Amino acid sequence: MLIIGLTGGIGSGKSTVASMLGDRGATVIDVDAHGRVVIAPGGRAEAAVVAEFGDGIADADGHIDRAALARAVFGRPEELARLTSISHPAINAEIAARLDELPADSIVVLDMAILVESNLGRGDPAHSYSRVVVVEAPEELRVERAVQRGMAEADVRARISSQATDEQRRAVADAVIANDGDLDQLVARVDELWSTILGWAAP
Ligand code: ADP
Repeated sequence: MLIIGLTGGIGSGKSTVASMLGDRGATVIDVDAHGRVVIAPGGRAEAAVVAEFGDGIADADGHIDRAALARAVFGRPEELARLTSISHPAINAEIAARLDELPADSIVVLDMAILVESNLGRGDPAHSYSRVVVVEAPEELRVERAVQRGMAEADVRARISSQATDEQRRAVADAVIANDGDLDQLVARVDELWSTILGWAAP
């Protein structure tokens, strides 16, 4: 099994690239979505997060109120670290369970916003990515794309400054894909990337 970590800053086109790789035969695991699953009702991290943060972040049914949880950790690095120390191992366990269900010859793409900034996708050696693909685009284009998708410009810029820099992502990349043109250009670059990936997967 070849496991690839795919990352990029907000608006870079990471999710678009993930979906194109899916079209070419990769199994895509949306790691960010698993972050929501683990704290949803019945999720692996639900009980531990409520125990750690208290009823103030729970709704009337005792389930996690995501907005309240977000307020509890926003701008508070220590609180955020407490949360991720519970949620990230749960997400990694979730990823491991998904990987264990897949055929051994699968090419898996872990689509994740925070690769450089976290230990996600590297829970244990058998369930870790061995290659990293980074999607890049100029900052102004990323802001434009995210705003078009419905985010407020100030929120996009705040997110960009809280995320890793292009240099930090590039430092861990095995391949970088530039998404600074139109979608046809991106398709051509993803085709090239797919050949590279097939080379990585070759025995
Ligand atoms: P990310 O997951 O990196 O935040 P997305 O893949 O969701 O970014 O892309 C952000 C938005 O930009 C989406 O609406 C997507 O359709 C659009 N987009 C991505 N790449 C291109 C491109 N090369 N040309 C035009 N629009 C693009």
